[in-house]
Amino acid sequence: MTPQRTPDPQTGAAVKAADRAHVFHSWSAQGLIDPLAVAGAEGSYFWDYEGNRFLDFTSGLVFTNIGYQHPKVVAAIQEQAATMTTFAPAFAVEARSEAARLIAERTPGDLDKIFFTNGGAEAVENAIRMARLHTGRHKVMSAYRSYHGGTNTAINLTGDPRRWASDSGSAGVTRFWAPFLYRSPFHATTEAEECARALKHLEETITFEGPATIAAIILESVPGTAGIMTPPAGYLPGVRALCDRYGIVLVLDEVMAGFGRTGKWFACEHFDVVPDLLTFAKGVNSGYVPLGGVAISRKIAETFEHRPFPGGLTYSGHPLACAAAVATINVMEEEGVVEQAAHLGATVLEPGLRELAERHPSVGEVRGLGAFWALELVRSKETREPLVPYNASGADNAPMAAFGAACKKRGLWPFINMNRTHVVPPCNITEAEAKEGLAVLDEALTVADEYTV
Ligand code: PMP
Repeated sequence: MTPQRTPDPQTGAAVKAADRAHVFHSWSAQGLIDPLAVAGAEGSYFWDYEGNRFLDFTSGLVFTNIGYQHPKVVAAIQEQAATMTTFAPAFAVEARSEAARLIAERTPGDLDKIFFTNGGAEAVENAIRMARLHTGRHKVMSAYRSYHGGTNTAINLTGDPRRWASDSGSAGVTRFWAPFLYRSPFHATTEAEECARALKHLEETITFEGPATIAAIILESVPGTAGIMTPPAGYLPGVRALCDRYGIVLVLDEVMAGFGRTGKWFACEHFDVVPDLLTFAKGVNSGYVPLGGVAISRKIAETFEHRPFPGGLTYSGHPLACAAAVATINVMEEEGVVEQAAHLGATVLEPGLRELAERHPSVGEVRGLGAFWALELVRSKETREPLVPYNASGADNAPMAAFGAACKKRGLWPFINMNRTHVVPPCNITEAEAKEGLAVLDEALTVADEYTV
């Protein structure tokens, strides 16, 4: 299947005009955006109608873990559409039950039942509802540096500034600081110190909130949108122990970090921690058809054995989305995509990015694992002052805008969030493609370097 790549600026202009006239874009001031009209995509690349091709270091929104248009997944979607395009959720449907089986077999511990949603935020909403009903408690604790989704409770649990306008969302949300040594909230200087202080802070927060009122603690196993901050080795086991001590449900949000992104099926496996509920989406089917879900432990599933779970969605476990998940998981097994992500991180991304950090004064820190990396850009390595202020926009954001433009001019589509660029290509990007992207980053970082002091 060779995708059409002949330039067609006229169609591109029409697509753009209709978009500007009628599409209301998320998280944006509608009059200030200029979305690229995309003509097609394959593997790690996409292209516009002018004939410009871009290497995608964003995996869409960190979801195309096996790249665009994988022929086996496209074929599975076509086959499902030909046989059973849709069916209501209350029935046993082959694609749905097979997807649930394949997911449950890969999630750790006894996370054996799968509640399907259409994406990540709905998974978070439903996980919190399950935790509240299971415990009979109402409060939920989340980390400041986090992102959990755009719906009511999910945005309220989020620490990212995008929640500010919706803070009235959900009663009983309380936040804490999770570990982040580079900008330590605890004034720690070593990982061990950061870990111990973060756990002490969490236990004190639990104590003062009242353990008997707290239904759940939700954490991203490796926080993604907030900066890809792999926690110290002891942190998640410590949180697990606190949850056990106080009867709190541990929800690990693996919407971004799950399905191979970190070089394991799920990021919590790096820490030998099994949550009570695990939320997933994105990589489950590489985002080919919207799908998310909650993997549920036996203990919580039992709560709803003889009592209905009061929640559901018309398109829960949609056959097309589930068929895409079955095909994606099978491709990941057959092609060793999870191992590829681990290998890529260890042999290309980590050494390549560390080398860039040595040469560029604007790179304050490199962190990550697998195909999940962040470069933190700073005005000074010594003071660690971010290259742009927190939540900067307009003129304040000029250095990051210039860096982004320099990448795009050279054919690389970068992921930019505040003062960071995240390096999150498809997990199966080739070594040559990854190196091509690193070479562009090298050149674009010289633009960022001009803003250092
Ligand atoms: N949780 C995490 C960790 C995420 O990264 C995201 C999306 N970036 C979500 C939840 C929300 O997922 P969705 O946008 O599919 O609702």
